[in-house]
Amino acid sequence: MSAFIGIDLGTTYSAISTIDEHGIPKIINNSEGQNITPSCIWIKDDKQYLVGEEARKELGINKNVIARFKRDMGTKEKYTVRGQDFTPTDCSALVLKKLFQDAQKEVGDIGETVVTIPANFNNEARAETLKAAKEAGLNVKNIVDEPTAAALYYAFKGGVELKGHFAVFDLGGGTFDISLIKVDQQNINVLASEGVQKLGGDDFDTILQKIVRKKFKEEHEEVVDGQDYTKTDAEEDKKSLSKRDSLKVRFNKKRVSVTRAEFEEKISSLVMQTEMVCESILADQNLTATDLEAVFMVGGSTRIPLVQQAVERVFKQKPTQSVNVDEAVVLGASLYAAFKGDQSKLTKVQKASVNRIKVTDVCPSYFGTFYLGEDHQQLVSIIIEKNTPRPCSVTQSFYTTHEGQEGIDCSITSANTPETDPSFVRLLKDETLKLPAGRPANMEIQVTYSFDENGVMLASFLDVESGKKTDIKIGEIDASPAEKNKIDAFTVD
Ligand code: ADP
Ligand code: MG
Repeated sequence: MSAFIGIDLGTTYSAISTIDEHGIPKIINNSEGQNITPSCIWIKDDKQYLVGEEARKELGINKNVIARFKRDMGTKEKYTVRGQDFTPTDCSALVLKKLFQDAQKEVGDIGETVVTIPANFNNEARAETLKAAKEAGLNVKNIVDEPTAAALYYAFKGGVELKGHFAVFDLGGGTFDISLIKVDQQNINVLASEGVQKLGGDDFDTILQKIVRKKFKEEHEEVVDGQDYTKTDAEEDKKSLSKRDSLKVRFNKKRVSVTRAEFEEKISSLVMQTEMVCESILADQNLTATDLEAVFMVGGSTRIPLVQQAVERVFKQKPTQSVNVDEAVVLGASLYAAFKGDQSKLTKVQKASVNRIKVTDVCPSYFGTFYLGEDHQQLVSIIIEKNTPRPCSVTQSFYTTHEGQEGIDCSITSANTPETDPSFVRLLKDETLKLPAGRPANMEIQVTYSFDENGVMLASFLDVESGKKTDIKIGEIDASPAEKNKIDAFTVD
């Protein structure tokens, strides 16, 4: 029997999980025995690579280590290591391959897999994530938004039915995300997601490094640089400051002490920034803190007491932290994989457990097409509305405008709001459909947009009379043989 798998491909840490025989999601430890794996890749030579703790320790010291590539997903960024170029997608594929291989050793045959992505990933970044899975040889049918996965797991764990408005506060290593979720019957719907791209644990590590450096200088006239007291050292110390009031750092037989209060004072402006983003997202959605049923905490940095206090202040309630904040996203992802997957592969017990959660997916934005209005000005016709439950299919008819028209523009647009003005939408694809020669005006063209279960969109532009059509697929990019070979050529050291 093949296992249902969830993968959280995080900026700083990634994780993989499965559904156990009781239908409970559980973490699969990596081959080093850890529940989470640093998303750091060490390219050892042109055949071998290593992902995880050992690579993380080399970060910033060794130029053959790649990290923080998730921020560049969907862009043209490239990292050159040992003369070879790696795209962010290649890097994601290498991390996925490592997690996948470790999981195989634990659970054997791997079946349907769900990978999580930030709610604010654009179409390109989403499609690239699916492509990375293909490069890594994974059978990924679905991707799911991180806050949705976390909310699902919180609901599952608490045994509560989700209903109403919720916030998911996710402060990880590299980024901060706040999402407002509305749950209505079976629809879990991310209403809005805001964030700060470069605000997280990484910044806190740098701040602690600076504090330590300054103290050694002042108290012992000792110069401690980034090699003496590395970011990795600072990260370990930062974590212990979440539990203890102070700690001692030793170097060259000298020591300084750093208190939690000193550390929190220096990170307070960054924490305040997260509060401000929370306030503005609530205001944008015309919600107040008291409209929220609960605030779910996600991400390692939410263990910092100051962060917890800030969240409590801004949302006027104690956040829910009943689960392991590092694991909520990935555990929700494997639940989602089993819920969405072929349930005939589940035992009766597993099925009963998994079906305690209920979720329907919705279309992520307004999808439309350009057309010519009465005065020949270009307008956007919305074909699929945002939040339409998936799967779905909608057809609209358009008519050719002039005699002898040779073709039509097959444009696909998307927007977060129901815009009909072309300057406010994004053009996702633009192709043409050639029409037979010598026809009168006003011939019918049927435009059908459909979404399948996995969020892959198919658009079809049909010339009704001739039966000719242009089909466009969105949301899926195939990995080329060269790209697949590149990942295949590397083995995990
Ligand atoms: P990602 O951004 O990859 O999703 P995580 O949610 O796993 O990452 O968060 C990782 C960050 O959380 C790291 O910066 C790590 O140092 C930090 N972190 C983990 N545990 C603690 C802790 N006890 N106190 C403070 N920070 C922590
Ligand atoms: Mg995360």
